[in-house]
Amino acid sequence: DPDTGLAPLQFAVTKNLNAKTTAQRDEILQSPGFGTNFTDHMVDICWSVNGGWHRPRVQPYGPLSLDPAAAVLHYGQEIFEGIKAYRHADGSVHTFRPDQNGRRLQRSARRLALPELPVSYFIQSLRELIAVDGAWVPTGADQSLYFRPFMFAKEAFLGVRPAHKVAYYVIASPAGAYFKGGVKPVSIWLSEDYSRAGKGGTGAAKTGGNYAASLLPQSEAYENECDQVVFLDQDRNVEELGGMNVVFVYKDGTLVTPESPSILEGITRDSILQLAKDRGHKVEGRSVSLDEWRRGVASGDIVEVFACGTAAVVTPIGELKGRDFFDEQPIGELALSLREELTDIQYGRREDKHGWLVRL
Ligand code: PMP
Repeated sequence: DPDTGLAPLQFAVTKNLNAKTTAQRDEILQSPGFGTNFTDHMVDICWSVNGGWHRPRVQPYGPLSLDPAAAVLHYGQEIFEGIKAYRHADGSVHTFRPDQNGRRLQRSARRLALPELPVSYFIQSLRELIAVDGAWVPTGADQSLYFRPFMFAKEAFLGVRPAHKVAYYVIASPAGAYFKGGVKPVSIWLSEDYSRAGKGGTGAAKTGGNYAASLLPQSEAYENECDQVVFLDQDRNVEELGGMNVVFVYKDGTLVTPESPSILEGITRDSILQLAKDRGHKVEGRSVSLDEWRRGVASGDIVEVFACGTAAVVTPIGELKGRDFFDEQPIGELALSLREELTDIQYGRREDKHGWLVRL
């Protein structure tokens, strides 16, 4: 590793003797859906207070054996990541800015009092999985292999303190095109009764509890015929959706995204904003109140609003609905044009000027 001087880990590989046949795999890859099918193997690295990172393995995908007292089951000491592998026309497999996901996993680890996995080990863990399961990266349009790296407290101990034994795993799941039949604007429900995060809380970390806390407001969104929820902070500033960041486009071409210590810093958002800057757009990270949003749309100052994240890439926001209002959102061209530029880079159809792709 050029940054840390760490030597690569030596993974012990155990092949899955019950791996899916080529025919079974091809059938899954025909229409992969999302998050229900998994590749034949998984990566696993152990960590302990005394031994550090050790026993790196690639093993058959399958159930974990966990002590019922494992701390994660009681106190939720857990973090995860989400990152994709893309197949290019020449058959090669690439991932996108894995250093950024590796660093975000480290920031999440710090907040959850978990050990920080070196970024080089993180990238190596993706590469080891592709070495055995590369055939699971689909070839269809907008398809990908979604990696789910995660880390949790496995020590059997009911005291409330950082666990002395931790496990890191990577599993992978083939993912179909998020939008079948073209990108559709989403409708957003404004969560007034529930927040996702608070000042000094865990909002900036990718930890299970944040997602558990989003489920009830998300079901409120469904009850109100909306696709997604948007959360506010205690001062009624816009934070983010349950699993995507928000970007506002102003009529002078400026892109504004909420900046706060309780928002998850999206890598899609960062990349989209960089591409916009490259095109000469001004980009700002600052507080955006609900009031500014609603007034901006009403006056025409805001000309487009979109959400972005690894799963759906970029999605225009078509409607904002609250308990006592319904605001139609202006639809423009920029969100979809940035989406196309980003996916062109990811799938190798356009020059990767920023060096974001890493071949696996
Ligand atoms: N916010 C939240 C809460 C998320 O779960 C995600 C998905 N990781 C994002 C934003 C977008 O982040 P990224 O672009 O890195 O996927």
